Amino acid sequence: MRGVGPKRADALRERGLVTLGDALAHLPRRYLDLRRRDPIAGLREGIDAVIEGRLEGLTIRARRYGRFRSVSRAWIRDAAGARLRVVWFNLPSYAEFPTDEPVLIVGRIAAAPEGGLQIVHPEVYRLAAGETPAIRPIYALPAGVPQRLFGEIVAAALRRAPDDRIGAIPAELRARENLLGARAALARLHQPPADTEFAALADGATDAHRALAMDEMFAFQLALARDRVRSRARAGAALERKADGAAARFLAALPFRPTAAQIKVILEVDTELASAAQMNRLLLGDVGSGKTLIAFWAALRAAESGWQAAIMAPTELLAEQHFRNFQRIAGGCGYLSALLTASVAGAERARILRALERGEIPIVFGTHALIQRSVRLARLGLAVIDEQHRFGVFDRARLVALGAQANVLLMTATPIPRSLALALFRNLDVSILDEMPPGRAPIVTRVLREPESGEAYAAMRAEVAAGHRAYCVAPLTEDDEDGGGASVAALAKNLGRVLPGARIGTMHGRMRAAEKERVMRDFRDGRLDVLAATTIIEVGIDVPEATVIVVTAAERYGLAQLHQLRGRVGRGGAPGRCFLIASANAGGQALARLETLARSSSGADVAHEDLRLRGPGDLLGSRQSGALALSFAAFIRDPAIISRAADLAAEWLARDPKLELEASAGARAAIRKLLNSGFSLGDIG
Ligand code: ADP
Ligand code: MG
Repeated sequence: MRGVGPKRADALRERGLVTLGDALAHLPRRYLDLRRRDPIAGLREGIDAVIEGRLEGLTIRARRYGRFRSVSRAWIRDAAGARLRVVWFNLPSYAEFPTDEPVLIVGRIAAAPEGGLQIVHPEVYRLAAGETPAIRPIYALPAGVPQRLFGEIVAAALRRAPDDRIGAIPAELRARENLLGARAALARLHQPPADTEFAALADGATDAHRALAMDEMFAFQLALARDRVRSRARAGAALERKADGAAARFLAALPFRPTAAQIKVILEVDTELASAAQMNRLLLGDVGSGKTLIAFWAALRAAESGWQAAIMAPTELLAEQHFRNFQRIAGGCGYLSALLTASVAGAERARILRALERGEIPIVFGTHALIQRSVRLARLGLAVIDEQHRFGVFDRARLVALGAQANVLLMTATPIPRSLALALFRNLDVSILDEMPPGRAPIVTRVLREPESGEAYAAMRAEVAAGHRAYCVAPLTEDDEDGGGASVAALAKNLGRVLPGARIGTMHGRMRAAEKERVMRDFRDGRLDVLAATTIIEVGIDVPEATVIVVTAAERYGLAQLHQLRGRVGRGGAPGRCFLIASANAGGQALARLETLARSSSGADVAHEDLRLRGPGDLLGSRQSGALALSFAAFIRDPAIISRAADLAAEWLARDPKLELEASAGARAAIRKLLNSGFSLGDIG
């Protein structure tokens, strides 16, 4: 593409944008309605403004200005006579300004260094030229890739996209179901026609959105259906029951009584482990519902019947926590267990590897270290994956590959409504822990908006003074167009001011693993009072002394994710508090969404609301986490779409089981794309 040199190509590649097809699948993150007009008098900092007026008073200073070589300044004056500062840096000398005709200025309003407001590097449209689009897409792009350039890339991709090859649903079914073709749907979302209803477009609720979601879900369901056929045929280790075995003794010796839900799940798992069919079960349970207990019990169940169990967790800390807890409550059961993480090295590691290979250690806890090539297990009968949405599908596949007959238990706290889980994971059996252990104080959640966040910091101060600990969450990386949000470093600095004397640590995804573990350990053991971090703290860690969590820029997260985050506090005796702080420019709708969390402490309620408002994308884990490579699932507002897609897939497979027909070409390509992006159900099922 013209305009894309090696540097921009690299930046785009880092976001997974390599081919024209990738560009097509990268839908605008939002839209700006250029049919709207914002009076200058009513502007606020942070909003994206569309201003009609005339440019005047243009000056260009060609000497150094801070880190810039030149600065051009002008005013835009609107029909009401109000004016606003417009600034450009380093404009090329050939840039021309239409100063004697009406223009449209589009960009983000910022504070001017000399006071008042300004707009930097806006887009300028000449109204008389008739070149103004009705609706302007805004993409999430890496720094250095202009919106306009990306628009041109997409336009080229649309021109070259073959008409029927880019949709998965065969034309015949598509016509019957009254669905837009994929190419037409993509065109409508990248280049919205002038008569598009803006609200539906902004909400992801147009026919084009629905068609894309349906198309993708169809491919996904085809992959599931084919996988199901294969996994049904596979034999699993049959783990014999022992009447008075270690698993039964473990349950009897617990310091508390298992909940009715835990018992129900244990019975489900027990039956399946005993059978000769391979178990492929997903255990859904809200944060704190006691999933670990099921994993421990199942591990003992494997051990007592002469098989090995491997329990994999996404972080070293979590694996270590499981290992220690297991030793504490099941150490006396008579079966050896080991911990295998990147930190276990040297002679100790060699010893564990040898014992695992010989089958001398029946139970092993670990991280990704478990799926390194050096690890061999003599007789893997059970593979448990905790916080499974944090793993890529290849990771799961590799763990399961350690034993051809391994029964698989996937555990997740992602609050997926039951109906959705059943539709989405038709290749898995689903167990649900729908009951919390008794005696939990609910977490009190408050929604605030910047700058009215004093209450949250006061609460942190009080808790730290009382010897408790606090989390504070900030988004680290910002897309260029959103610049100015708080990074973890900025947050920590700010916290240092409002919490004098507090010991503050920082943690984010770009730190090395060892460093993260060290910070987390310091926080857990009380050498730090406050942890300023990105959402990497979301996963399963238990620090009972943590009583407050403050999430800044909270409107950026899905409700399900916020629910997981607040589950980090209130795990000890003391009640937990959660403050969700929305940015100053967050809209009323965003605040209303956050209020859902203040109203309900149930993961299931949150999930329903999240699904209604944002589709299942957040519930399924993000593309980045490698959970599911679905791009358009976020547009599913109604789980019925998933079932419908599954029915269509079944219908088509009955007609063309091997997908050999010419009409299946699009479906074949779509499945291949899912598989290439790391989604390989064939291996996990
Ligand atoms: P999660 O489902 O989020 O992984 P955990 O397994 O970590 O939850 O359990 C959370 C806490 O609840 C742990 O401290 C665990 O010991 C405790 N717990 C689990 N089951 C029960 C129960 N039946 N009664 C009381 N406490 C329980
Ligand atoms: Mg857990």
